[in-house]
Amino acid sequence: MKCRICRAKAIISLPQHNLALCAEHFDAWMLKRVTKAIEEFGMFSKEDKILVAVSGGKDSLALWDILLRLGYDSSGLYINLGIKEGDYSDESERLTTAFANRANAELYVVNIEQLHGMSIPDKAYTKKRKTCSLCGVTKRYYMNKIARDMGFDVIATGHNLDDQAAALLGNMLFWKMDYLAKGAPYSPPMKAGEFAKAKPMVYCTEKEDTVYCLLRGIAYIERECPYSKGATSLRWKRALFEMEESSPGAKQAFYFGYVKNIDLFAGKDEKEDVPPLTCRVCGTPSWNEVCSFCSTWDLHVDEI
Ligand code: SF4
Ligand code: ZN
Ligand code: ZN
Repeated sequence: MKCRICRAKAIISLPQHNLALCAEHFDAWMLKRVTKAIEEFGMFSKEDKILVAVSGGKDSLALWDILLRLGYDSSGLYINLGIKEGDYSDESERLTTAFANRANAELYVVNIEQLHGMSIPDKAYTKKRKTCSLCGVTKRYYMNKIARDMGFDVIATGHNLDDQAAALLGNMLFWKMDYLAKGAPYSPPMKAGEFAKAKPMVYCTEKEDTVYCLLRGIAYIERECPYSKGATSLRWKRALFEMEESSPGAKQAFYFGYVKNIDLFAGKDEKEDVPPLTCRVCGTPSWNEVCSFCSTWDLHVDEI
């Protein structure tokens, strides 16, 4: 297998693009894929301050590395969830910090246990809630808080094409109209002075992100979060993997066909407007008097 550009030995085959590339041309191709997403969806410019949500995994570290190489003003945010199994959270934090130090990039670290006296799994246990649902609320809150407090223009996450297509498949199977209205790779700020949300890795797959990190010598946490076992999204990913094997390009056609037609779902989501209230405890935009984060963590006015 030879690189289509220089005819040197190819290190990756990309059947969905009818392409094989050597290390050097694959690296350049990844930078182009991310640039394409940023420009096509008008995600941000070199003047914007970007907060990259990093988990220590391949997708978010690849994203941060690429944004830095492309010259974007990007800082990282790592949220330590306090997951002890296999030293998962602390190991992810070590890898993220090592990357930030090597890249000489700014990193914010939020430690949930230090802030709230309890880890995400322990809090979920005491509240009789699913760990992932409590985790989602908490991560969203801190991403938004840091972005707002520190004046970032955009929050960028490492969601790749596999993630986006799997989420779309799950939402379509059950016709979750509220989610179908907001599956685009870019969401503009809710109002002036707020931040946008962007997924610049949306043209890259998990396999491509893995190879990119290997080539760049980026050490990342290879294990999945222990709480992701049995997640329905993994089932949708497996189904899409099989479709892709027999029809290369199916995944990309599925997701980007949806993005092109996303307006079909506009207005079907009752909650797509700006939240009408501000949380009486923390003051962030909220659908209820007390936001889901403050009620989850049992916070009262004097604790904020
Ligand atoms: Fe959080 Fe669940 Fe994702 Fe683990 S799998 S990081 S607990 S949402
Ligand atoms: Zn080449
Ligand atoms: Zn609140």
